Amino acid sequence: MSLTETSQTSIMKTYNRLPITAVKGEGSYLYEAAGMKYLDFTSGIATCNLGHQPKGVKNAVTDQLDLLWHCSNLYHIPKQQELAELLAEKSCLDEVFFCNSGTEANEAAIKLVRKWSNKETIVTFTKSFHGRTLGSLSATAQTNLQEGFGSMLEGFHYLPYNKFESLKRLEELKPAAVMFELVQGEGGVRPADHQWISQLVDVCQSNNILLVVDEVQTGMGRTGTLFAYEQYGFEPDIMTLAKGLGSGFPIGAMLAKETIGSAFGPGSHGSTFGGNPLASAAAVETVKQISSLLPEVNQTSTYLLNEIKNLLEKSSSIIDVRGLGLLLGIEVRNAAHYMTHLREKGVLVLTAGATVLRILPPLNVTHDEVNHFLNILTEVFQTEEEGEQE
Ligand SMILES: *Cc1c(COP(=O)(O)O)cnc(C)c1O
Repeated sequence: MSLTETSQTSIMKTYNRLPITAVKGEGSYLYEAAGMKYLDFTSGIATCNLGHQPKGVKNAVTDQLDLLWHCSNLYHIPKQQELAELLAEKSCLDEVFFCNSGTEANEAAIKLVRKWSNKETIVTFTKSFHGRTLGSLSATAQTNLQEGFGSMLEGFHYLPYNKFESLKRLEELKPAAVMFELVQGEGGVRPADHQWISQLVDVCQSNNILLVVDEVQTGMGRTGTLFAYEQYGFEPDIMTLAKGLGSGFPIGAMLAKETIGSAFGPGSHGSTFGGNPLASAAAVETVKQISSLLPEVNQTSTYLLNEIKNLLEKSSSIIDVRGLGLLLGIEVRNAAHYMTHLREKGVLVLTAGATVLRILPPLNVTHDEVNHFLNILTEVFQTEEEGEQE
C-alpha cells in the first residue's frame, strides 16, 4: 500500500494531505517515487524561493555539515553573525533575533513590543495570518482558526484591512503597535493599498505606534524587492521573516531598530535552535542569491501577471487577478476544484481561502517553465468553460 492510500495513522491529522508522495525536488520540479513529476508553483509555500536544491545553498550547507551542526546560542556562531550583518545591511533594521519559524518570529515581535512599550494593545487586521502558536494565533484575526482553544492572549484588536475607517479607530486606540502583512497571503492574496499604508504609517508615526510588518511570506524577494515594505515607501520598526529565508531549512528571524531591540537583554528571550549553523549557512547563501535575482523576478512577474490578465479577459470563470511580484492570486468560484484539475495535469499551485488560487513559482523559474504553466492554466480554464456550455 502506498503512503497516499494509507490513512497515515501515526501522523496527527492536522493537515488534509493531497494524494502526492513527494520524494525528490530539483529546480522547479517535485518528483514522486514512481517518477511522476510536477511543475511546482507552490515553492513549499513560498519557502523554496530558489527552487529545490539550489546549488550554491546546497554547497554552503554541505560545507557547514563538515564543520559544525549545532552548538546552542551560548557561543558565538560565525554564520549566524554573518547572516545578521547581511540582513541588517540589506534592510532598514539593525538587530536580529533568530528562531525557527514564522510563528516564533511573530511571538518574538509581540514580546518585544510589550517589553519596549510596557503596553499590551496591538492592532492587527481582518483576514490576517500570523501563525499557530497562542500569541501569533491571537494576532491572527480569523476566529475560525481560534475556535476550540479557549481564551486568546489579551490586548489584540482587529480592524478591517485596507479600510480607511480603521485609521480613525487606530488613533482612538493608540495601541503599542500595529502588525500587518503587505500582501495578505493566507487571507486571499490581498496586496495592501498604497494610499492606505501611507496614511497608516502617518497615524502610527504621529502617535508613537510601532510598525510591525509580518514579511514571513512577502519577504525574501517574493514580491520583487527583497522585502515588500521597500515598495511602500516606509521603514518598519520591527519585521519578521521565515518562510523563504533558508531555502527550505527551518529558520525565522525578528528584526528591529536598535532603539527598540535594546529593550531585550540577556534572558529576555531565547531559542535553542535559533540561528543554528546549518540553517544560518543556508540563509546567508539564500539572501545573497535572491538579492542578485530581483530584476529577473520583476520581469517574470510582469510577464506572468499580464498573461494571466489576458486569460481573465477571455474567461468567464476568472473573477480577479492580483498580487505582487511572484505572489499571485487568481480569484475563481471554487479554488480547490481548479487546484485539483491543475495537479492532474502535472502542475502544483496552492489555494488561499475557498476562492483564490495562489501561485508561487520559484523566483528563478525559467521562461519555458512559465510558458508551460500558462499553457496548462489556459487549457484547464478552457476545458472548464467548454464543460459548462455543454
Ligand atoms: C506562514 C506564515 C506565518 C507562520 O509561519 P510558520 O513558519 O508556519 O509558523 C506567519 N505569518 C505569515 C504572513 C505567514 O504567511
